[in-house]
Amino acid sequence: MMNAVSRIYLDNNSTTPLLPAVMEAMDEYARTTVGNPASAHRTGAKARQVLEECRTKVAKFLGSHPDEVIFTSGATEANNLAIFGLSSDISDIAVSRIEHPSAIEPCLRLEQQGIRLHPVTVDELGRVHSLPMLPEKSLVVLQLANHETGTVQDIAKLRQQSPTTRFHTDATQAVGKIPVHFHQLGVTTLACSAHKFFGPPGIGVLLVNRCTRLEPRIFGGHQQAGYRPGTEPVMLAVGFTKALELACREIEQRHARCLELRKLFLSSLRQHIQFSINGDSANGLVHTLNLSFSGIASDLLFIRLDLAGIDCSTGSACSSGSMLPSPVLKAMGIEESRIKSAIRFSLSHLLSDADVVEAARRVGEEVKRLRS
Ligand code: PMP
Repeated sequence: MMNAVSRIYLDNNSTTPLLPAVMEAMDEYARTTVGNPASAHRTGAKARQVLEECRTKVAKFLGSHPDEVIFTSGATEANNLAIFGLSSDISDIAVSRIEHPSAIEPCLRLEQQGIRLHPVTVDELGRVHSLPMLPEKSLVVLQLANHETGTVQDIAKLRQQSPTTRFHTDATQAVGKIPVHFHQLGVTTLACSAHKFFGPPGIGVLLVNRCTRLEPRIFGGHQQAGYRPGTEPVMLAVGFTKALELACREIEQRHARCLELRKLFLSSLRQHIQFSINGDSANGLVHTLNLSFSGIASDLLFIRLDLAGIDCSTGSACSSGSMLPSPVLKAMGIEESRIKSAIRFSLSHLLSDADVVEAARRVGEEVKRLRS
């Protein structure tokens, strides 16, 4: 009988494992509390109190006021709520081509309804240097960190170029990895999602600046200021908050550990094969590595790596079924052959040295096999 190969998970930008401490916090809540936070009785009040404590902590960790925190089902919903909700009286949207589909597609919908779209261009490392000139009644949609390359934008600086427009940032890949402070960024809205920082899937947050009025997208209840009606998932909010608390408390240690692992993975891989790095390697998210292996089709390498026990990605998970060249790498002006040989490895502080050395060995072996 064949031995099952041990798997090494290098796809943490798709989703991260749930930390035991987060699971315990949710379990404790579920075992001890039953109420609907909207109910007037004392059991409801207890659930409401837990929810509001979560909101207050999330606000503290992300640099906002508690009443600016809206719990959603994830970043896809948060991006949609922000972009549609801010667009009721605008004429123009500036959006980069490196956004996640959950930010680009709402903009394309709005274009069909007559709103003008302006592309925000990026350089060869995926960095935005300037925004297009826009009329006042406009919206800028620009992510904080890229899901495929890890390139980080200087949102606070770009915001200064467009101080009077509305400004939405998708901070899904940044929260828990680099310090994020809503008011210091100066944006109108900010989206993030717990399952990217070792929390549960199914819960995200949209921060909405107090001075802004958002048009709700769904109707039928008064919860969360009417922006996001429906019974709040308190247990998931507990998980979101615990995961965020741990990520913020340990941000420097996790960063340092991921940097060590990144260096070890790259140096080990260099002993086996040649490759090039896509994205802003010097200033980007340290756990994200987008590598091109010349002469190799990434979809074939992906399959070989899957069989060899390596979980990775050929692009964002949401578009990986399509086999189209990555729109992110395309927007960076990277040549087609290099795009078609790109694979994303996303690390986490939970990996051991032995994991990344072994992963590099397996990647090296599969690349050599395909090259010969
Ligand atoms: N934005 C970015 C940058 C992402 O990476 C993702 C997840 N792939 C999303 C939004 C969507 O997040 P969720 O899965 O929570 O809807």
